[in-house]
Amino acid sequence: MTASFPDLKDKRVLVTGSTMGIGLATAQAFARQGARVGLNGRKAPQHVDDILAGMHANGGQAAFFAADLSSSDGCAQLIDAFVARFGGIDVLINNAGGLVGRKPLEAIDDAFFDAVTDLNMRSVLMTTRFALPHLRESAKRSGQTASVISVGSIAGHTGGGPGASLYGASKAWLHNIHKNWVDFHTAEGIRFNIVSPGTVDTAFHADKTEEVRQRISASIPMGRFGKAEEMAPAFLFFASHVCSGYVTGQILDVNGGQYMP
Ligand code: NAP
Repeated sequence: MTASFPDLKDKRVLVTGSTMGIGLATAQAFARQGARVGLNGRKAPQHVDDILAGMHANGGQAAFFAADLSSSDGCAQLIDAFVARFGGIDVLINNAGGLVGRKPLEAIDDAFFDAVTDLNMRSVLMTTRFALPHLRESAKRSGQTASVISVGSIAGHTGGGPGASLYGASKAWLHNIHKNWVDFHTAEGIRFNIVSPGTVDTAFHADKTEEVRQRISASIPMGRFGKAEEMAPAFLFFASHVCSGYVTGQILDVNGGQYMP
């Protein structure tokens, strides 16, 4: 069964880091609502034509935009390309992110610091910065709020697992910087919310043995990892002006009870 958010039809939705995992499941969920959706990754996924055709068949429009968001130039190029294709932005989903690697404190060097913070912090800041005029315009033109939804993490609350201190801190930074954006951009008709996943079964956890996976599952009240598809409805809710037009500055933890703030 598919959740229904009729006001998302024709909305222009950019989902960063959406060649697989949570981003792809979310992009596909928006397509099922009839939205116009931008997929992004550093390079096109293997079956990009099939993915786009599936999204069209389900009622949406979709296009893929290659851009490496670890650089500010990449963020600017992505926004320019999406706007050139769809004419503006109504919803920005800052999903691109990841561990980069695991390093304990003693092993963190400048290159690792830059790689983790560029991917998880710079990408969100700069993509949002370049999207801002388009989001303002969307709100002004439509009379409905535009929406920025960033992907936080349980690690942003807890500090992160082994070797993931910088990753956890960068997600906490996201949780925090949204508060400033709420204070200074709400009057422009833009809402800022965060979806904060727990442990979701994606390539993100490819480094884990079956034993570690079992141990983590046992620590989750739901007894299992989440599925990427189970994250998507939270983004639909925050994107829908009808459902969440008075909701901003919030973190929605989707984690099977793994962490309760
Ligand atoms: P994933 O399956 O590894 O997907 C990551 C996506 O980001 C891919 O589409 C990847 O595409 C893209 N990406 C990576 N580097 C990029 C860059 N420099 N520029 C543009 N795109 C880039 O990860 P996921 O588990 O779905 O995670 C999605 C988000 O959820 C991340 O922000 C992650 O931190 C967060 N999160 C995940 C979990 C979890 O348990 N899975 C938990 C909490 C938070 P390319 O490789 O093609 O560039």
